[in-house]
Amino acid sequence: MAHIATLLIVEDEPETANLLERYFQGQGYEVLTATSGEEALALARERPPNLVVLDIRLPDIDGFEVFRQLRAHRKTREIPVIFLTERGGREDRLVGLELGAYDYIPKPFGLQELRARVQNILRRPQAEPALDRLTGLPGRPMILEHLREQAGHVEWAVVLIGLDGLKAFGERYGFIARDDAIRAVGLVLAGVNHESGDPFFLGHLGEGWFVVIGERHLLSPAAERMVARLKNVLPYFYPLQDVEKCPEDLPPLRVMTAQVQGTEGLFRHPEDVLSQLQERKRAIP
Ligand code: CA
Repeated sequence: MAHIATLLIVEDEPETANLLERYFQGQGYEVLTATSGEEALALARERPPNLVVLDIRLPDIDGFEVFRQLRAHRKTREIPVIFLTERGGREDRLVGLELGAYDYIPKPFGLQELRARVQNILRRPQAEPALDRLTGLPGRPMILEHLREQAGHVEWAVVLIGLDGLKAFGERYGFIARDDAIRAVGLVLAGVNHESGDPFFLGHLGEGWFVVIGERHLLSPAAERMVARLKNVLPYFYPLQDVEKCPEDLPPLRVMTAQVQGTEGLFRHPEDVLSQLQERKRAIP
């Protein structure tokens, strides 16, 4: 019998591993299992599966490290991963999504729920990369998905941060310099984001526009820090000869930002949130 797909289940608790193995085999999947991170990596490189179900707490290296190493290796880079997290482990969840995992499911989980998520991911077109290639951050599809997930959360907010003037910048200095600038913005924002120890969801919409999502009362001050840091480093985005002073015939790079609050009830229509953000964005004086 032909298998629907091959799953690699990485779980050190034998009962859960057995249960998952038998369940998915019964559903027509081919199931490989690993009980440690190193074993999972070796197996995935030898026989790349269509999807990995990855427990975060493993006896040797943790699930995040396994994930990083999967992403670092050409043969396993594109394999979607569902993290198994501890219920209520908000940080685990955000870190997982920030790394570009396709999904997470908190333990204890229902088999049907897990199966539905596996099916969803396998149905997804391969052409839709989870991570933005330029910045390594979650791209537009994951941002939309994350917004949709927060639909009921009135206390949440989303902030847009980006640079005005990138187009002219690229025309003057070339697209490599422009891409470097976008990458630098991503690094600055991610740097500030991780300083708090409890990072927000951060994604790159494209064209140098970034989105940060989180609880409003925590997000607002963090977004202010991000904007301030970005303003500080902005001069260094220019080639050396122009660091001291932006050329007069070139529109200067300016930091722009905008915010949409969960209370506005827009999160159910994530595309509307994004267009509102674009409409509202203002330069920071
Ligand atoms: Ca475990």
